Amino acid sequence: MKTSIKFAGPIRVSEIGETVVANGLNQFEESPIEMSVHEHCKGLITTVGVSKSHLVLRCSNCGLRIPVPAEVLTLGDLRKHFERYQ
Ligand SMILES: [Zn+2]
Repeated sequence: MKTSIKFAGPIRVSEIGETVVANGLNQFEESPIEMSVHEHCKGLITTVGVSKSHLVLRCSNCGLRIPVPAEVLTLGDLRKHFERYQ
């Protein structure tokens, strides 16, 4: 049986220190990226496919647009992808 890993805290996603945080208390590293909010600006994070290989993270409030590979689907994937910032 697969064990879920509790969300491990803010994930830095940009060079200027922007982070996304879980939307609500009961999120896991396996939760979809869409279950997060843009810390400080409080906008909801959504994803949009923009090419065969990439999607972008968007924020409902500030217009954040951060490309990530299309394989990045969960909060844990996102943390791993931006490992250099953590
Ligand atoms: Zn935002």
